[in-house]
Amino acid sequence: MKRYILLTPGPTPLPPAVSEAMARPILHHRTQEFGDLFDAVLDDMRYVYQTQGATVLMMTTSGTGSMESAVVNLLSPGDKIIVHTTGAFGDRFVSIAKAYGVSPVVVAEEWGHAADPARLRQALQANKDVKAVFFQHTDTSTGVVNDLEKLAHEVREQSAAVVVVDSVSGLAAEPLKMDSWGLDVVLTGSQKGLMCAPGLAFAAVSERAWPLVESAKLPRFYFDWRAMRKSLKNRETPYTPGVTLVAGQAEALKMIRHEGIENVWKRTAELARYTRAWAGRQGLSLFAKDPANILTAINMPAGVDGDALIKDILAKEGISIAGGQVQLKGKIIRIAHMGYITKADLDAGFAALEARLSKAGV
Ligand SMILES: *Cc1c(COP(=O)(O)O)cnc(C)c1O
Repeated sequence: MKRYILLTPGPTPLPPAVSEAMARPILHHRTQEFGDLFDAVLDDMRYVYQTQGATVLMMTTSGTGSMESAVVNLLSPGDKIIVHTTGAFGDRFVSIAKAYGVSPVVVAEEWGHAADPARLRQALQANKDVKAVFFQHTDTSTGVVNDLEKLAHEVREQSAAVVVVDSVSGLAAEPLKMDSWGLDVVLTGSQKGLMCAPGLAFAAVSERAWPLVESAKLPRFYFDWRAMRKSLKNRETPYTPGVTLVAGQAEALKMIRHEGIENVWKRTAELARYTRAWAGRQGLSLFAKDPANILTAINMPAGVDGDALIKDILAKEGISIAGGQVQLKGKIIRIAHMGYITKADLDAGFAALEARLSKAGV
C-alpha cells in the first residue's frame, strides 16, 4: 500500500481507533444506542469548547456549512454586521453574508497579521447598532492566531453584538475557552484538531445568542438551529446524521478527553516550536507575524515555486503538504501540526523538503 502522510491543515490523519470505530455496523439514528453515542459526543464537545452554558449542535456538513448556519440563524435582512478578516476564511464569511443579501462592514488585516483590537474598536464605535461580529480563531490561509479573549472583550465594551468565531482549524489544537472568554457562537468541523474524517460540523451557541436565533429572518431550513435544539430533547438530530462519522468522532473525543485538553494544546504548541526551529535551521522565514500553533506557514525563497515543490513531494513520496491560497499561491507552504500529526510525520516532511531545497541551491 502506498504511504500517505497528511501534513495538511485538514483533513488530518486519523488515529487507528477512529478508523476502526467507523468500520463498525451502521447504527440506526433513532435508537437508544445512537442516542447514547450522540450524548457522549455533545458532552465531550462541551468539554473541548470549555463551556457549560452553551448548547452544542451537530450538523452533517463541512466547516463551511457551519459558517453558513451561523449567518442564516443569527441575521435578518438589513442587519449590520462586522467581519474582522485575517485571510481567506474571514473573506468566506463576507461571501456567505453577501450571498444572503447582508453587506458586512469589513475590517481587513494585511495577510499574516492577527486582528487588531484597536481597529476593531474604531469599527465598533462607528457602527453602534451592529448585531454580530465575526472572527476566525486561527486563519488557516495565513497561519495566524487571533487573541479572541481581547477581541471579544472589545465587542462587549462597545456594543451588544454577539461574538461569532470560526474555530474550524483552531479547536482542540489552540487554546480556546468559550465561557470565560465571552464567545457567543463557536463553529468547528470534524476533520482538523478533532481527529475525525471530514463531514461533521458543530456550533456551540450561548444563551445570549438564542434570542437572535429565534428572531432571525434570513431563509433557513436544513441548517435551522431551532429544529436542531428541539431534537436534542430526544437525543436526535432532525434529519439522518452521518452516523459513521459520529462513531468516529466519539472515539476521537474519548482520546482528547483522556489526554486532557490542556495537554492537547501543549502538544500542539511543542510541534509548532519544533517546526519553526527546523525552518530557522534551514534559513527559511515564517509568513505569519502572529503565528498559530496549528500550522507553520513558511515563505519560499526567491525562485522556488512552492506549489511545484509540494506536488513533487506528494507524487514521489506520498506526503501531503499545503501550498498558499489566493495571492500566496506558490509563495508559501503550510505544514500542519494539529490533531493526530506526529513528530515522525513532520520529520518525513522535513526530509522531503530539505532534499528538494538543497537541489534548488537553497
Ligand atoms: C477548514 C476551515 C474551514 C472549513 O472548511 P471546509 O472545507 O468547509 O471544512 C473554515 N474555516 C477555517 C479557518 C478552516 O481552516
